[in-house]
Amino acid sequence: MYITINTKSRIEIVDITNEVEGIVKNSGIEDGIALVYTRHTTTALIINEAESGLLDDILNIIQKIVPQESYKHNRIDNNADAHLRATLLGNSVVIPVANKRLELGTWQRVLFVELDGPRTRKVLVKVV
Ligand code: ZN
Repeated sequence: MYITINTKSRIEIVDITNEVEGIVKNSGIEDGIALVYTRHTTTALIINEAESGLLDDILNIIQKIVPQESYKHNRIDNNADAHLRATLLGNSVVIPVANKRLELGTWQRVLFVELDGPRTRKVLVKVV
């Protein structure tokens, strides 16, 4: 099953926990794991707290760690920073499933990270 996300900024974090929970609930699988996977090369997935100040902090630190510079890939489509940021964050998360629910900690949320928006993105959720 896919979740469609319409991002609004070049770099942005979208909380997709409720959408992932919905897919898990409808999957019929009581106990297992949910793989949340992005097939894009300029997006990422992380699990963390969705507090608005922290989300800003995450975006700020990503931009500090990988600043916009003259990378080799920029001669292709001028978005090397987005690819590099994506490789550091990773393109999937795996979450345990119990009683048809995600076994997340109290403050944990599934966060989609857009790094070269705004675009329409698709995230794959596979429950096994
Ligand atoms: Zn590119």
